[in-house]
Order: sequence, then C-alpha cells, then structure tokens
Amino acid sequence: MKPFTSSIALLCLSLLFAIPIFGQEKINRVEPPFWWAGMKNSKLQLLIHGDNIAQLTPKIQYKGLSLERVIKVKSPNYLFLDLKMEAGMSPGTCNIVFLNASQEVAASYNYDFKAREKGSAEREGFNNSDVLYLITPDRFVNADPANDSMEGLKEQSNRAFKGGRHGGDIKGIEQSLDYIADLGFTAIWVNPVLENDQEEYSYHGYSTTDFYKVDPRFGSNEEYRALSKKAKEKGVKFIMDMIVNHCGSGHWWMEDLPTDDWLNSTGEYVQTNHKKSVIQDPHGAEIDRKIFVDGWFVSTMPDLNQRNDLMATYLTQNSIWWIEYADLAGIRMDTYPYPDMNYMTEWTKAVMHEYPDFNVVGEEWNGNPAIVSYWQRGKQNSNGYTSELKSLMDFPVQENLVKALNVGSWNPVYEMLANDFLYPDPDNLVVFPDNHDMNRFYAAVGEDYAKFKLGLAMILTTRGIPQIYYGTEILMSNPGKGDHGIIRSDFPGGWAGDAVNAFTGAGLSTQQKEAKEFLRKILLWRKDAKALHDGKLLHYVPEHNTYVYFRYNDTDKVMVVLNMGNEAATLNLDRFSEALPAQATGKDIISGTAYKLAGTMMVPAMTPMVIDLD
Ligand code: CA
Repeated sequence: MKPFTSSIALLCLSLLFAIPIFGQEKINRVEPPFWWAGMKNSKLQLLIHGDNIAQLTPKIQYKGLSLERVIKVKSPNYLFLDLKMEAGMSPGTCNIVFLNASQEVAASYNYDFKAREKGSAEREGFNNSDVLYLITPDRFVNADPANDSMEGLKEQSNRAFKGGRHGGDIKGIEQSLDYIADLGFTAIWVNPVLENDQEEYSYHGYSTTDFYKVDPRFGSNEEYRALSKKAKEKGVKFIMDMIVNHCGSGHWWMEDLPTDDWLNSTGEYVQTNHKKSVIQDPHGAEIDRKIFVDGWFVSTMPDLNQRNDLMATYLTQNSIWWIEYADLAGIRMDTYPYPDMNYMTEWTKAVMHEYPDFNVVGEEWNGNPAIVSYWQRGKQNSNGYTSELKSLMDFPVQENLVKALNVGSWNPVYEMLANDFLYPDPDNLVVFPDNHDMNRFYAAVGEDYAKFKLGLAMILTTRGIPQIYYGTEILMSNPGKGDHGIIRSDFPGGWAGDAVNAFTGAGLSTQQKEAKEFLRKILLWRKDAKALHDGKLLHYVPEHNTYVYFRYNDTDKVMVVLNMGNEAATLNLDRFSEALPAQATGKDIISGTAYKLAGTMMVPAMTPMVIDLD
C-alpha cells in the first residue's frame, strides 16, 4: 500500500470507529463462532473476548436454549457462557445481549445455530479400504500467487529459502484432486492449515495462532470446506491435521491469557524432555513425567494446559466444530502423548460420542510397539490407563521396513509384525514408508528403485491403512540431507514455470513415470481388493530372502511374495498349504502374469508379486 492511500484508509477507519456502533463495541471474539442444533452433546461453552466484558451481564432468549452458568476468570476481558440445548431446539439465530449495571444493553452478539447436514453424525471415517495421500500444503501447488504474502501477517513468502513459505495453497490441492483420485488415493491428510502468524518457519502449520481461522496464505475457511466437499464428490475422504498440545507464540490470547493456568510452565522456560517412555515407565520419576507433559515442545510453541476445564472444553469443541464445519472423515492428532493423557481420553470420547464411525489416528513417534499400543482403544494397561483412540501411526513397522531394506533381510519386518499381539486392533494402524518429518522413503533406501518397489508393495498390502507422502509417486528424494525444508520440497509442476511437471509428466524421467504407474496399478486394484479391506494377515518366516504372506477373508485371497534377494528364489508351495488351496490359480497384478500355484514357483530377484487368487 502506498503512503498516501494508506493515510486516507487510516482516516476512513478512524472515522468509522469513532462512531460508536451501538451494541457491538465490546466484543472482539466469540468462539466457537457458531454451532449446530441437534448435536448429541447438549452442552456448549462460549468463550467471549472483549474489553472489560466481565463487567457486563449476558442474557439470552431463545426457545430450547438456556444459559446455565456464567464464568468469570482472572482477565476481565473474558466471559465463558455455559449453554444447554434442549433436544428439540431449532436452528436459528440467538441474540445474546450484555447488560451494564444500569440494565442497559451495552453489547450484543447474534449467535447462529445452524442445521446439521444429513448423516453428519453417521459419517464414515477413513478405514482399511482407504489409502491416504499426505500433503504439505505450502509445498504442493501454488494456485493463487496473490495470497503468497498477506499484509498483516508476519512472515512473507520466500521460495528461495528452504524453511520459508513457498506459496502452496488450498486452491492448489483442490485443482489437483483429479490427479490424486486418478492415482487411486481415496483420502487426503493435509498438514495443518490454521493461521500460523509466526515470525519464521510458519509454513509447516504446527504453531496455531487462531484455532478457528485458516491461514489466509493458504486460503479461507470457506475454501477449506469447499476442498473437503469437492474431495468427497470425487471419492476422496478428508483428514484434518490437528494439534491440541500447543499453540504458536503468536497466538492472539498470548497477550491476554484468561487464567494463570491457561498454559503450562509459564514461569521459567521449560522444554519438554521428549522422553515419551516416561508415560509408561514404572520406574519413571514424577518430575520427568511433568517435564515431558508440561514442558513446551519448542520455545515458540506454548504448552496448553488441558487440565484447565475451560481450555479442555475449548479444544474439544474446536475439534468438533471443524468436523462438522469442514465435513471431515478423520483427524490426525499431532504429538498424541504430549498433552494431559486423561484429557486425550476425554477428547477422543467426546469426538467418538458425536461421530461413532469416525476415525482418529494419533502420532506416537516411537519405534516400540509396547509404547504405541498403550494408546489404542481396548488396550488393558497395567497402570489402568484407558485410551479411546482407534488408530495410531505405525512407526515401529515404518522403522523396520527401512531397516529391512537396508540390511537386506525381511526379518525386522516379519518380527515387528509378530508384535501385533500387543495391539487390540492392529488392522486399524496407519502404515507408511515415510512422512513429512523424516527422510523420504526413496532416500532412505539409497535411491534403490527395486527396494523402493518392494517397500511400497509391502506397505500397500500388509495389514493396516496405508499412507503415502506426496511426491513419493515420482521418487522425490533428499539424499544425504535430513533437512525438513528439503524433505518437504515443492512438488514439481505446482508452480508456474516449473521445468518439470508431475501432473502432465513433462520432464519426468522414465523411471519416475514408471514409479507413478507402479503405484497407480496397485492402488486402483486395492480399491476393490476386499481381502485387504477386511481380511486377516497370515505370514511365513522369510526364507531365501523372500517374504510370503496372505491376506484373506471368507471369499477373497491375495498372496504377496516379496523377493529381496539378488537372485531368483524357488519356492516350494507345499509350505503354504495352510493358506493356499490345492490347484490354486491367480494373477500377479503387477506383472499381469497368470500362475498355477502348485509344486514350485520361481520368483525373480528383487521383485514384488501381488497374486490375486481366482
Ligand atoms: Ca499461494
């Protein structure tokens, strides 16, 4: 903005605000900004933020709605209103008035109760029939260069800096939905898009500064919702990345915290020790547990105190608001063990109470299945802790897949899957070769294309719900560099003028094109492969560098053969008679070759086979 026009604008603004807008001047925010009639939970708590709002007395008049309690806190600029909705309450607008000591209306707010969409409560979460495509929105597609930098937000676009904002946006994902669906993906998990008004490194989205607002550099709330709707129309489920452990240091409430215990460790800075095992460790010291849970993730991410009931309700309602508003099919919950663990049980319960068929996957970044399984719903823990979380990210299998391919033996994978007895529901784990926080899978296997294919075939056919990071289909890599900014590189073709375009195929190498088709072939087949959607897993001790397993239900059966050896392997099929019917026939969906499965079978070196039995 030029100086002249900006001073005119300022003058206009000051004129506007000099004229008192009767009834509105006291209120800065009401959160949640609106709600829905007909939710199972009849309670709603509103956070009202406004200058000295606590001096006023709120009143409501709306049929079926009652104001049960008004809560004042240390800061005079907050009021919390406990509302109760009767079962038959109709959608509509409730006028909340705030009276001063003379019983005059000093402020008012029109609060909307919207009608729920049909089937909202019965929404189906992502499940074993799905394969998730993980997207880092800043690095995927820049459809709107006009929003790359936004006035009023601290960090400006800088594509030349690997840790900067590169300009990718929600519109870019929307434009790419056909590409994603055509590859065979049935769900997208999009890294966080809520406002991150931080000085630097704000592109990753994990430093929320407004829990109810999409960052304008990604787009608007409406665009986010439109993306979800459009994805659904194309058969692609939408999964939101959420964080309840912390916010960003630039969060609006940091200037005016409601209570002294709104955050943890607000005195002298305490960083979490990141020792996740302290939660389960029977010998652990209480102070280490406290530092783990209440310390800040990093200095720019204040730790939220979910033991404060107001904070707990705020966060839970926020999650439900986004499910209802953006029509979500799932949530990926960041840093699952870091918040108060009893709160996480209450949070999950509240979400699953509203949406019984929904799915939530938690991130417990740990290679130990004893620790990961601790958090799954149905687990009987020795300390009595009960979790309500349906799904977890399967870090133990991810780590061991990379290890297996690097040591040249399937044993690490075979033995890790044998630990499934620890999980109440191993089928509901999300399996993945990599994600946005670690080396890209192609780099992790030394850019060995044969290993890459073996690994992907395994992830897409073993038990669980597979997830693939964007760009894996074109062998995106970060050789020798663990840098997050490089791992999350721009998707080629996402920016005008890119020399390589993964969407059109222009500039891709033969191998990149082949990798895309390899993935696409398995994904399209997997859509109808019922044995992978609800079937069991039966696997055999790896022999001759070859891992053989079956996925089966009552009607369908798939035999997966993964030869990691540098020589062809000859398998004696009698060994698999427990799973393999006599005189079975089938077709390898990768090569298209038909097989008579009797006697022996030759498996070429370094080759995956996925045989769909007739
Ligand atoms: Ca943009």
